Amino acid sequence: MAKSATIKKPAGKSIKKEFTFRFYAELNDFLPPRRKQKVFVQSFKTPITVRETIESLGIPLSEVDMILVNGTSVDFEHKLKECDYISVFPVFESMDVSATTKVRKTALRTSIFILDAHLGKLAKYLRMLGFDTLYRSDLDDNEIIAVARKEKRIILTRDKLLLKSKEVSHGYFVRSIEKHEQLREVVAKFDLKSQFKSFTRCMTCNTILVKADKEEIHNKVDKDIFRTFNEFFYCKNCDKVFWKGTHFMRMEAYIRELV
Ligand SMILES: [Zn+2]
Repeated sequence: MAKSATIKKPAGKSIKKEFTFRFYAELNDFLPPRRKQKVFVQSFKTPITVRETIESLGIPLSEVDMILVNGTSVDFEHKLKECDYISVFPVFESMDVSATTKVRKTALRTSIFILDAHLGKLAKYLRMLGFDTLYRSDLDDNEIIAVARKEKRIILTRDKLLLKSKEVSHGYFVRSIEKHEQLREVVAKFDLKSQFKSFTRCMTCNTILVKADKEEIHNKVDKDIFRTFNEFFYCKNCDKVFWKGTHFMRMEAYIRELV
């Protein structure tokens, strides 16, 4: 080592340089304990882009919304210089960084989703709140990524590897395991409260429900139900009728608690 350090490196050959990093909020979930919530120094072979450093530190790019180098917002392809100070921020759905971020041309604000096979219950809840949510337990990672890109959907997943794919630009790793906690987490993360359109979408298939003419559905529901309720909703895809019964009231109470 001592010997080689005295030899002048030929032009164009990579040299290791030190950079200082600070990752904010939930990006720390991807860092080892010694680096969580801390400023740390890491050497990399140069030349290197900010994208390459973030990736090699184990952070999925899809979770990053803003990068500051020495206080200035940069994009992923920004080339780092020795001693640069890199601050990396997650997707702040609850804070408007669209004016300052240079990572993406458009902010990650479209709240339509595609969920991986582990999140079936969460999918139903998001539909209950009116969010366009694709979920099929038979989709593999590549299919999820392809649909997300085509339809500009945010991927929600419990699989960190899926988010590390270069093809994923809009993705979020759901930390909670329990379904109610997952819903709370996603609602907070993407600041969804103002976008609730509860009970407008079929929880089973994601189709938008239509108001049903009472006379047209009389043969699709129980006589007592027909007599008791006046308002009915219909899913064309499932051929199912819904009404505001006890199940509805329970869910409504749950949503009130969520808000
Ligand atoms: Zn349906």
